[in-house]
Amino acid sequence: MDDILIKNGTVIDGTGAPERTADVAIRNGRISAVEENYSGSAERVIDVHGRIVAPGFIDIHTHSDFTLPLNPKAECKIRQGVTTEVVGNCGFSVAPALPDKVEMLRDYLSGSAPWLPFEETDFTRYMDVWPDISVNTVMQVGHNTLRIMAMGMEDRDPTEGELQHMQAMLAEALGAGALGLSSGLFTAPGCYSKPEEMHALGRVVQAHGGRYSSHVRDESHCVHEAVAEAIDVGETCGIHVQVAHLKLSGTGKWGEADKLLGQFTEARQRGVDVHCDQYPYDWATNPLRFLLPTWLQEGGMDAMLARLADPQVRSRVRQKIAEVGFNNFGHIESWADIRIAISPNGAAEPGLTIEEIAERRNVDALDAIFDIIIDDRGATRILVRSMSENDVRRIAAEPSMTVGSDGPCVAPYGVTGQGKPHPRLYGTFPRLLGRYTRDQGILTLPQAIAKMTGNAAIALGLTERGTLQAGYAADVVIFDAETIMDEATFDEPHTYPTGVETVIVNGIVVIHDGAHSEALSGKLLRQRDGLLS
Ligand SMILES: [Zn+2]
Ligand SMILES: [Zn+2]
Repeated sequence: MDDILIKNGTVIDGTGAPERTADVAIRNGRISAVEENYSGSAERVIDVHGRIVAPGFIDIHTHSDFTLPLNPKAECKIRQGVTTEVVGNCGFSVAPALPDKVEMLRDYLSGSAPWLPFEETDFTRYMDVWPDISVNTVMQVGHNTLRIMAMGMEDRDPTEGELQHMQAMLAEALGAGALGLSSGLFTAPGCYSKPEEMHALGRVVQAHGGRYSSHVRDESHCVHEAVAEAIDVGETCGIHVQVAHLKLSGTGKWGEADKLLGQFTEARQRGVDVHCDQYPYDWATNPLRFLLPTWLQEGGMDAMLARLADPQVRSRVRQKIAEVGFNNFGHIESWADIRIAISPNGAAEPGLTIEEIAERRNVDALDAIFDIIIDDRGATRILVRSMSENDVRRIAAEPSMTVGSDGPCVAPYGVTGQGKPHPRLYGTFPRLLGRYTRDQGILTLPQAIAKMTGNAAIALGLTERGTLQAGYAADVVIFDAETIMDEATFDEPHTYPTGVETVIVNGIVVIHDGAHSEALSGKLLRQRDGLLS
């Protein structure tokens, strides 16, 4: 007897194959059958006539390591149908944290993880004490974090000893089961590193069967060179590369999506193992201070705040931004294209644009930005419209592209319900399925689902998940293809999507009829010998 039988569904299995009518049976946390007119019986039968039955979605790029310990029910993700979250992205991870660097790491991550308690830990212990949560977790160790531990916020090459220290901490994380190394070369201190440093770390990743993901050095003026740099790490070190949240930022780069996508086609033709991911929005989000020139951050938070109070520094920054636009984002169209997402210490009101704040304070827009950073000790986070909708749609239409919300898991209630975060935290997957696939027809439904499931599993080396087949872990989502849609907006971001009806994680029903069962059935997945399970 099976535990659960999902009857009369339209199965889309995650491989890209066409939909078919079939029943899905689950027993002991695994799929026991995917068959038409299955004859077995089960303790619980869910009749889903007309609904899509698909593998649970894999959010391949998230920052939920900052919030899942605070919201173990994984609300905004599980309600989109996400059953696995990959954390530790963009060079940022909460571990390792050495005793004398805990404060520096807390300060460094204040614009992303303002509510998380930080404590001394190595990666092994960090994984061992990871709490029970409603989704599966995959961990990466961040290069920015490693560099802060080894050499602080210094703008220079590591000494031989510092490089060995980074390599040793990386090896420890990989040995504990981390998927791999992530880099965030767009901001300090990762931006202070040269390619040789990344190759030296990439060789450690290779030796442990790990993978490399990168928020590349520049997503604007030098985006093509930066993507080539990431691909080169994979090619030189013989490791898989995941290029994060692929985009063309800054008005000067709009319209180059085909050229960008062509870089990946060429790399694959040369035999490089490379994937990328995307969130389907033309707005990005980041700590406000990361938009400024990276030299400001050298030496850490106090050094940065002191520099920003200096009128001469302000005029130097002003001149640089007039020339090249913002760090990583390039030129934007208007000051209304930067909005406050959250300002944990109350320096600015969430939802207001920089244009509105400058007007109200009767100051110049850049002075408003400098003042907010100082008043909030660098913790203010913003939204920025830096992409063109045409490029977003072109990249989303690429069947090989995987899907990552690039967001932490939050909830409309509790400590993570503050501010006005990016709507992608609540909407990424339903938006791609509803708005782009059903309404605009940029992909077929089996293609869209494969991006979120089977293709993501391949990109991660994830075994026994990502497709619906007997013997695989029972991560399943049931949704209505006619109604699925993101509902989160910039003004009301803490809004769950519609159309997702049932979500099952490791054979346990977590979401059904809009209710969370309180089940914390997710598993921490560990990488061993290149495979993740
Ligand atoms: Zn990033
Ligand atoms: Zn990210």
